[in-house]
Amino acid sequence: MEILEKFLEKDHDFKYATIVHCDTPSGVLNDLSKICPLLKKYGILTVVDSVAAMGGEDLQVDNWQIDIALGGSQKVLSAPPGLTIVSISPLAYQAMENRQSPIASFYCNLLTFKDYYEKNGFLTQCQFQTFMD
Ligand SMILES: *Cc1c(COP(=O)(O)O)cnc(C)c1O
Repeated sequence: MEILEKFLEKDHDFKYATIVHCDTPSGVLNDLSKICPLLKKYGILTVVDSVAAMGGEDLQVDNWQIDIALGGSQKVLSAPPGLTIVSISPLAYQAMENRQSPIASFYCNLLTFKDYYEKNGFLTQCQFQTFMD
């Protein structure tokens, strides 16, 4: 933590930082409760890869000021792969909405899913049309 603090004092012109919550091969568990608030002190968005930890380790996205946290179904939860669990803060949405260039990907564009059910209901327009035909 001291090394990171000293580094950030001198150099903190970053839009966001990515942090791995837990790395299984090396056994590292990063203390997000300290790292993320420190990054936020410098206005740096925090993106956490918690794929190997989510469901097994404490993860407090609001209290620890995590802007994006990602988890997967196939690790701790031991469920089939294919389900991504994601948490997005209002600041992260704001950063995505204020981009100068549009996000090129459909599935990797988290804005696609913002207010998805409010906008589309349970069925998408396309599914609804097929249902009605
Ligand atoms: C397994 C793992 C990934 C990769 O997840 P996949 O969904 O299998 O691609 C990413 N990050 C961490 C920390 C992991 O342990």
